[in-house]
Formats: sequence, structure tokens, C-alpha cells
Amino acid sequence: MNGGFALFADNKSHKPACIQSSEFDYKIALVGNPNVGKSTIFNSLTGLKQHTGNWTGKTVDLMAGKLEFDNKKFCIIDLPGTYSLTDFSDEETITRDFLADTDIDCTVIVIDSNVIERNLSFALQVLSIQTNCILCLNLSDEALKNGILIDSEELSMYLGIPVITTCATKNDGINELKKELLQICCGTKKCFRISRYYEGIDILDKDKHTENTYHFSLLADEICKKCVLYCKDEISSSSRKIDKLLTSKLTGIPIMLILLGVLFWLTAVGANYPSSWLSWIFDSVKEWLYFFFDSVRLPQLFTEFIIDGVYTTLTWVVAVMLPPMAIFFPLFSLLEDSGYLPRIAFNLDKYFSGCGAHGKQSLTMAMGIGCNACGVMGCRIIESPKERLIAIITNNFMPCNGRLPTLIAVITMFFAGSSFALMSSFKVAFILLTIMVFCVLISLITSKLLSLTVAKSKPSGFALELPPYRKPKIIKTLVDSLFNRTLFVLLRAISVAAPAGAVIWIMANTYIADSTILSYCTDFLDPLGRLIGLDGVILMAFIIGFPANETVIPIIIMAYTASGTLTDYTSLDQLYLLLTQNDWSIITAVCMIIMCIMHFPCSTTCLTIKKETGSIKWTVAAMLLPTVMGLLLCFLTANVMRVFI
Ligand code: GDP
Repeated sequence: MNGGFALFADNKSHKPACIQSSEFDYKIALVGNPNVGKSTIFNSLTGLKQHTGNWTGKTVDLMAGKLEFDNKKFCIIDLPGTYSLTDFSDEETITRDFLADTDIDCTVIVIDSNVIERNLSFALQVLSIQTNCILCLNLSDEALKNGILIDSEELSMYLGIPVITTCATKNDGINELKKELLQICCGTKKCFRISRYYEGIDILDKDKHTENTYHFSLLADEICKKCVLYCKDEISSSSRKIDKLLTSKLTGIPIMLILLGVLFWLTAVGANYPSSWLSWIFDSVKEWLYFFFDSVRLPQLFTEFIIDGVYTTLTWVVAVMLPPMAIFFPLFSLLEDSGYLPRIAFNLDKYFSGCGAHGKQSLTMAMGIGCNACGVMGCRIIESPKERLIAIITNNFMPCNGRLPTLIAVITMFFAGSSFALMSSFKVAFILLTIMVFCVLISLITSKLLSLTVAKSKPSGFALELPPYRKPKIIKTLVDSLFNRTLFVLLRAISVAAPAGAVIWIMANTYIADSTILSYCTDFLDPLGRLIGLDGVILMAFIIGFPANETVIPIIIMAYTASGTLTDYTSLDQLYLLLTQNDWSIITAVCMIIMCIMHFPCSTTCLTIKKETGSIKWTVAAMLLPTVMGLLLCFLTANVMRVFI
């Protein structure tokens, strides 16, 4: 039976705790170029659900999992995907040092059978450090379609190690892989070091980087000539034709905007229905709760605390925030899985390099749309420290899954009002797309400013692999991302939104003299809020929402309704009424959108920035920069709009 636990490496040694554990009989390392199906194989072996996606540089942290096979326990360690071991990027250093310094029983080298020469060069580099290895010829289904035939027995002889053919997505060959692992670990099968391949080679010698790379690629070519047969001249010509359309100067960016627009539109249209069903359910439950609490004669204050405080906040997050998430992310994952995201990076590269940033920053920004903490961690794929720093500091300009539904709600209430629902959803999608373009522009401008000032650096080369297009596994992707992200948001709702609701309710109901604590705070912030087109309550909500952006709107609802009797605000119509009763205008809505995009990152992201930069100074900078920019832009926008409206 495969085990289900995951251990992240401690940040300094990059070694998972299971390395020292006596629980395991054997320790196995998993290595490979990016995008060869390593995470899929890791998941198949361990039964874990590490995120897989069709783009480079996704595996950025060490992951460990347990495999139980034939009464033996294996600890499987998934190392970061790297192109070689001869260069000195972070991932390469981590992988090379790990292989060189750790006592492991067997290394599984996963390669993409479609590009076997390049992958084999990497495999030979690994073999120069580790003798006990198994070569896994993955993506064999695609290679077969592309007319690439690999003689695995011959290859095994040339390398001195077992060679297994796998198709990880269908679990083909995984059992054979487990059997080979057992045999190598038990010593019933031996690997042979072909010494002449590695004579005079020291992969740890930094000065011999070019020489070593050249040596191994020649060797790989030589071996491939003997073991690989190409039956088709033109590999994946359809891929190239699609690329001509999706990455051309003329059509690349318009198609990208259309695709994103459709994504937003489907989100806006689709989210309405589950939102209204959930609202209806929660309202009915609320009535029932009031009735129940009343009938068991619970104190009025307690009833209010539970229902108006905790329950309202929680149900807001679930009813209004969850549906757009549950639609947007599975669709986004399909784009990711098809191999389209690296094409976006390719299309935007010239704009990023023009701003002193790295083309891969667009990938980390795409990750930021899901979660800024993940986006910040993903910046490890950028080799140059200065460009990485720029990508980390600017990642927060991409609205994460805690902020996107807030944007959708404000846009729907204030800008998409139309009796014709279809028209309204088009408007939401269009405005959201415009906001996204604005976010990218702000990131580019800030990157430029940073690259000219505090993070000056020479632009580094951009070597992004464009992976082949793959038909995404629709059902699997939808189910995976729905469950992973939906559960994530739900758990966050329970763990953060509910306590936040409780705190704000207490603040709103604890009196000092004639006023509540909440009104002291909001009154204090009100002059600043009004100056920048908002009010004290909104500023307070952003501050209290620091642990999770999802809670900003529920906090606003609580603060506005603190003194009155609470009605239902899980429907946007009623929320609109509440907001306009509290002086919200178009100006407030625009400034709210600006503030939502441009304010300090949530607490989890801040901790991740601290961890990734190792610096409190840069963490504070990453908090201050968007906040100051947001406040200034709100001030300017509000005052310009006041002149015209
Ligand atoms: P990693 O970057 O090496 O960890 O690669 P992933 O495991 O994330 O896989 C990259 C993409 O290739 C994903 O879309 C996988 O579903 C897909 N994939 C992985 N293995 C296979 C395979 O054997 N055949 C096919 N057709 N696709 C695969």
C-alpha cells in the first residue's frame, strides 16, 4: 500500500526529515528535467497529490512520500526538476549536493522519451555521481505517436542500469518500476559503472562547466544513435502550427486576451447559480438557527455572537467567494495542463526584459493568481537573484484567490448592473480582464523602477522550454483542482474567517463609554479613508483582513451592520443596498478595486517572502511598496473623479 504523507525540506539543508528516520528500509531519490512527468510518477508511487502541470519549473521544493511494496518501506524524495547538474542555479545546486552528499539506495532518473538526447545527457551527469540508478523512459505514449522507438534493453546495456518504459498518466510501467527498485535496493540486481564515460570528469568542479556539458551531450548523442530509431521526420508538426498562431507577434497577445476573457466570462456566468443556491440554503439554515437558539432559550448575546458574528462571515466566504474559485481554477488548470502558460511567458518576455525583469516572471505571476505565497515560492525558477527579488516583490500585484471574488463582487454590484444577465456577465468579464491588464502593467512599471534603483542587474538570458501541447485530462484536472482548491478555501474559511468574524463581532459589540471599540478604530481611520475615496471601515477591514483577504468584505458587512439588526447579505443585491446606504459610490467602488489590488500581502505571503529573501528589510519593502502605491493611486483617482462626477 502506498503511504500518504508529505514532508517539506528544512530550508537550510534541503533534506527531508525522512532521510534520518529509521522507519524506512530504503531511501530513493527522484530526479529529472522539468516537465518530464516526475511529479506524476512521484504521485503514482506514493499516493500523494503533488500538483502537476505542463510547464517548466513547477517542482521548486523537496517533497518526500512513503511507498510500501513487498513489505518494505521506501522513502521517496522528489528533487527539483533541473536541466543539468553542471550549472549552478539554486535547483541544480540543491539536486547535485543532495545526490553527492546523501546516502540513498537508488536514484530514479525520469526522462521525456520525446527528447531523449537532451534528457540522456542529464541522466549521464547523474550517473557520474550515483551508480545505483534506474532510468525511467516516461511519456512513452507520446514518443510512440511521434514515431520514436527506443530499444530499452540496448540502452540498459550502454548505461549499466535497468531501463523501464512508463506512461505515468496511465500508471503503465509503475509496477515494473517498483519491482526494479526493490531488486536494486535488496542487491539482487546490480548496476554497473561504465568507467570510461566518466574518466577525468568532476561534475562538482565549477570551472569545468562548459567542458562537462559538452562531454555529456556528445556521449548522449552517441548512445542515442545506437538505441533510438526515428520513424517520422517531422515531429509534432501540429504543435508547431499551433505555436505559429499562439506565439506570433500578430496573434499571440490578442489570443491570450481572448482566452483569459472567456475564462473570466465563464467564471462570472457560472458563479451566479451556485452562489444563489448556497445563499438560499444558508438563509434557511440561519432562520432555523435563530429559531432553534430561541427555543432552547440561549442568551440573546450568545445567539448574536454565533449567528451574526461567526456564521455570517463564514457563509459569506462560502456562498460568494467559493463558486468563482471552484469555476476559475479548474479552467485555469486546464490551460496550464495543455501547455499554454509557457507560451504566455514567451509572448510577454520582451516586455519583461524591457523592464529589467525575467520572462519567467509572467509564470510566477500566473501562479500568484492562484495564491501569492505559491507565486513567491515559484520565483525560485528565476536564476538571477536580482530578477528573482523583483519577481517576489511584485507578485502581490496579481490578485490571488482571496481577492479575485471580492473584485468580481464589487464589479458585479457597481459596474455590471443590467437587467439582461448575459450582458452583465460580459461586462464583468471585460472589466476583470482590463483589471488584469492593469495589474500586469503595474507589475511591469514597478519592476522597471526596482531594476533601475534597488535591484539593479544585467538582464539574464531567457531559456524557457516550450513543452509540447498535451490534451489535458479534463475530468482528472477538474476533480483535482476542484477538491484541492475548494477544500483549501473552505478550510481557510473555517480557520480564519470564522475567528475573524468573532473578533470583529466582539469589537463591534464591546462598548467603552458611548462607542464600541470598532467605531473608535473606524472613526480614527475615517479621515484618511475619506481622503482616498474610501472610509474608516474599509481601511479597518483591510487591516483586520491581514491573515486572509477573503475576510475583507465580511468584515465590512459586520462593521456596517454592527448597530442595526442583521439581515441577509449573502446575496449581492442586498449587499449593494447596504453599501450604498453607507455612502458607497462609484468612486468608492473604484478605490476599493485599487486598494484590493494594491495593498500589503496576506500574512502567509509575508512569511513566505521572509523565508525566500531571508530578509526582513525586503519583506517590509514588499509590504510597504504596494500599500503606499495603492494609497497614492486611490487619493489621485478619488480626487480626479470627484472633479468630474
Ligand atoms: P514534472 O514537471 O516533471 O513534475 O512533470 P508533471 O508530473 O507535472 O507532468 C507534466 C505534464 O505531463 C502533466 O500535464 C502530466 O499530466 C503529463 N504527463 C506526465 N506523464 C505523462 C505520460 O507518461 N504521458 C503523457 N501523455 N503525459 C504525461
